[in-house]
Amino acid sequence: MTKQRALLIIKPDGVQRGLIGKILSRFERVGLKIIGLKFIWANEKQIKDHYPSTEAWFKKVGERTLTNYAKKGLDAKKIFKTDDAVSIGKTVKQWLVDYMQQSPVFLVVVESFDVIEIVRKLSGNTIPVLAAPGTIRGDFSHDTIDLANEQSRPLRNIIHASDSVEDGEKEIKVWFKEDELFEYPRCDEKFMFGRQ
Ligand code: ATP
Ligand code: MG
Repeated sequence: MTKQRALLIIKPDGVQRGLIGKILSRFERVGLKIIGLKFIWANEKQIKDHYPSTEAWFKKVGERTLTNYAKKGLDAKKIFKTDDAVSIGKTVKQWLVDYMQQSPVFLVVVESFDVIEIVRKLSGNTIPVLAAPGTIRGDFSHDTIDLANEQSRPLRNIIHASDSVEDGEKEIKVWFKEDELFEYPRCDEKFMFGRQ
């Protein structure tokens, strides 16, 4: 079994609310190794490269809105002028480009075994109001899709976490050069995992 890497981004709402230290400590205390850190003001190209532009991703994002609206009896056409999931997903991506430039963002690359499962578990559900207590999104936010969409903005859910090893590697390349990532031992690794 080999270690894997994941990218975390503390988004502008997390940075502007002064949550960087609290969030970072959650990943450190579970035993993930921080191998890269950066505090930058992102540009449009980086954000567009970071979030996927595939039909499947737009559809997933759009369907999140449609499912939520159906539950609440809301009409997507009122906000988006369409109920096509892909078009809604494209609009949300444009909102992300603006939102991610509202302040600097804090980038973290972490490494460990099963790192994707761990970062997703600690982050919690994408929709903060549905995120379990104890998760970052559940503990620090209760934003909802309809509130966000009504204000033409993405969900303020504090953190981005890679959702697969392949996507994580692609994302890391958007933000980091290989020589900005470090290999070193953590003193508790051998004790926790029986190996490094
Ligand atoms: P992230 O990629 O940021 O870790 P995620 O994987 O949980 O989040 P994605 O589907 O990749 O969720 O969406 C990326 C981000 O876009 C979300 O974190 C959220 O901020 C925003 N977002 C996604 N869907 C919607 C939506 N329907 N309405 C508003 N914002 C959305
Ligand atoms: Mg995602």
